[in-house]
Amino acid sequence: MSNPFKHPNQIVTKPLEVPAVDELRKKVFQQGKAMRATLKKLKQKPPRDLDEQFEKLHNQAFKKIDCLSCGNCCKTTSPMLFEKDIERLSARFKMKPGDFVTQYLTLDTDGLYCLQQTPCPFLGDDNACSVYDDRPKACREFPHTSHRKMHTHLALAQHNIEICPAVFAIVEQLKA
Ligand code: SF4
Ligand code: SF4
Repeated sequence: MSNPFKHPNQIVTKPLEVPAVDELRKKVFQQGKAMRATLKKLKQKPPRDLDEQFEKLHNQAFKKIDCLSCGNCCKTTSPMLFEKDIERLSARFKMKPGDFVTQYLTLDTDGLYCLQQTPCPFLGDDNACSVYDDRPKACREFPHTSHRKMHTHLALAQHNIEICPAVFAIVEQLKA
């Protein structure tokens, strides 16, 4: 017998589940192709409420995952660092910006500053950022799932499903 409480046109989506970080690689292997197709479709024809959809799913995902239990972004990738970031961080360490660059940074293939090493040298053993108040802008904005004009950030989302369990969960819901 059909469920008398369910409207016939009601769309039922799976509840949002954030995978454990050590399951991420397998999940991306299994679902990455479908997720890339979803993001491509959204980029070609973004729905009007795309920002709202992302915002809602972003909030749901980060209610379910505590970054201190993960730390995968800080362990496996480097933020870009711009002039203001370098000024702020070098002031924190009472270093000259040039010395900070020499000690911690390198240029990537696009000529932008990034960290010389991963995990990030400012990441603690407890996954806490030791320079939290002065962290780079890119760290503040990661994983870039609650911006305005999200249709312009979908390439980043595609990249970050492989790094961030929350992004994986968000895109999985968009695919549903
Ligand atoms: S500066 Fe902090 S938030 Fe940014 S990568 Fe390093 S540890 Fe992570
Ligand atoms: S932003 Fe994503 S990858 Fe980074 S610590 Fe939080 S859940 Fe993990």
